[in-house]
Amino acid sequence: MDPHDGMYIDGRWRPATTEDTIEVVNPATEEIIARVPAGGAGDVDAAVAAARAALPGWAATPPAGRAARIAALRDVLDARADTIAATVTAELGALPDLARRVHAGLPVLVAGSYAELAARYAFEEKVANSTVLLEPVGVVGAITPWNYPLHQIVAKVAPALAAGCTVVVKPAENTPLTARHFAAAAHEAGLPPGVVNVVTGTGPVAGAALAAHDGVDLVSFTGSTAVGRRIGAVAGGAVKRVALELGGKSASVVLPGADLARAVGASVAQVMLNSGQSCNAWSRLLIHRDRYEEAVALAAGAAAGYVPGERIGPLVSARQRDRGAGLIERGTAEGARLAAGGPDAPRERGYYVSPTVFADVTPEMTIAQEEIFGPVVAVLPYEDPEDALRIANGTVYGLAGAVWAADDAGAVAFARRMETGQVDINGGRFNPLAPFGGHKQSGVGRELGEHGLREYLQTKSLQF
Ligand code: NAD
Repeated sequence: MDPHDGMYIDGRWRPATTEDTIEVVNPATEEIIARVPAGGAGDVDAAVAAARAALPGWAATPPAGRAARIAALRDVLDARADTIAATVTAELGALPDLARRVHAGLPVLVAGSYAELAARYAFEEKVANSTVLLEPVGVVGAITPWNYPLHQIVAKVAPALAAGCTVVVKPAENTPLTARHFAAAAHEAGLPPGVVNVVTGTGPVAGAALAAHDGVDLVSFTGSTAVGRRIGAVAGGAVKRVALELGGKSASVVLPGADLARAVGASVAQVMLNSGQSCNAWSRLLIHRDRYEEAVALAAGAAAGYVPGERIGPLVSARQRDRGAGLIERGTAEGARLAAGGPDAPRERGYYVSPTVFADVTPEMTIAQEEIFGPVVAVLPYEDPEDALRIANGTVYGLAGAVWAADDAGAVAFARRMETGQVDINGGRFNPLAPFGGHKQSGVGRELGEHGLREYLQTKSLQF
């Protein structure tokens, strides 16, 4: 059967139990490019049953054996990177270079990191007269968003496999085709049937069924805070493990003495990456009052260089585009000054939003508090570093951020006081082994590296 007619359950492609389908739309052209089955509770049941049946065998596979399969998965993803990148371009709208470098490239790096970690990790610890065994939590339900479609799946599945867990993935509605490439790669990598399963479907039906399923021991969710809150409540009611990777409103803080042009340029670029659809986007840029207008001009100039369709792609859907444009209108209505961009569509076709910079933003404005998930930078002035800290910490979120200072020591001293899960110091380089996850309402739990692996392990103490 054509894989595009079915779902990947128990090591094979099989038809869905429902007749419902989801339309996949190319956000750059607004054309329907595919239809995939919208799985129902029956499909989720079958996938969870397969994952449960596969669990004892996979959990008992020695770490070196699990590492070998994860390494094989990395190799298949690497070999298929061009096809995966083209698929991400088609269903997310990511420009080809970004799709190849980040959307297809990053998962290879992350899968590779877990192949290495699984091989060398000590799944036993000595604590005085006890031996602590680190055992797999069990069957994982992974519910993922569309913004980095493959990365979000691999950032859950690779550590789960390394830990000895089996997984059912429910990918986002907007990007099911990339998820199918992942399923095909898992198959080709020789993962035993049932170890990885992929059920396409809508959030309220397939996602909700997976989150509430009795056969799932841990739900790992990435997406909106609203849905995350609901999943957390359901998991809490069932006393089930849960990891939530939610939204953000991260601040890039430029302290006096920093290289202003470098800091502003890099901050705008970080937001524009993936058209602003990154949960860790530094969507607030905090600038000392003395150099505020200079920074606004630099930010506006940088944003203007992101020509829609050439250097920046569309948003994923009409809904996200409308939401972004609506929040830009709200910014103007609440008194912020447009320094670049605006709510008007920059192209006739496609769900594009103009790269936008707002000046005269105050901390209580909607555009300084709500995650926009679009190419929008809010530039806020501050009086002194204490004021900057208050503003930086003054949202319900705490996912990421940046500090720019004359030296690393000054930036680190400030970063220590930020209520957030990750801070880039003077333009720090990405590290796929560093824990990623939120403080406050940005979430519960961590992804990547050893901390990400720990999410999928539970302890058993043996006393001697
Ligand atoms: P969403 O939270 O609705 O969707 C994320 C995933 O959850 C999808 O797979 C979806 O099908 C599923 N889902 C939806 N409702 C569900 C339910 N009731 N039970 C179980 N699963 C359910 O996010 P979205 O609509 O794709 O995006 C909306 C906003 O979420 C964005 O504007 C952005 O602010 C935020 N977002 C954050 C991230 C992140 O990385 N933290 C990623 C994407 C979106």
